[in-house]
Amino acid sequence: MCIFCKIIAGEIPSKKVYEDENVLAILDISQVTFGHTLVMPKKHADNIIQADEETVKNCISAAKKLAAQITANTGAAGCNILNNCGEAAGQTVNHLHFHIIPRYSDNDSIVIKFGESEKQDLDKVLKTVRGE
Ligand code: 5GP
Ligand code: ZN
Repeated sequence: MCIFCKIIAGEIPSKKVYEDENVLAILDISQVTFGHTLVMPKKHADNIIQADEETVKNCISAAKKLAAQITANTGAAGCNILNNCGEAAGQTVNHLHFHIIPRYSDNDSIVIKFGESEKQDLDKVLKTVRGE
């Protein structure tokens, strides 16, 4: 059983922010910023690609509501809703989850930076991503 499945089963303690039939939201143990929360399905899926659509919908729907609730209650100026899919993308726990990370200022202990790769031929990129 994965670590989040153990949390869902109550075998590992957690700080529950929200729970319903399909979804559990808990405080992230690392608290990247104050209020950092993880939203996960109760049904195990390794990641967003592998999960069935209903599972993803349930999580996104809960994440939307919790993003509003957490941002309002913490007084944050905004929030990042983040999903890491695969080890290469920084996923460390292979049970689908969405991070809700309240944002207070530029000095928050999180850096999300969109750099640039070398110049790309967008028509080639388009064909590739469309699978043509
Ligand atoms: P990932 O890197 O997979 O996107 O995110 C995994 C997150 O799970 C990390 O932010 C990490 O702090 C959190 N985490 C790992 N183990 C535990 C745990 O046992 N309890 C809680 N609440 N969070 C955990
Ligand atoms: Zn699991």
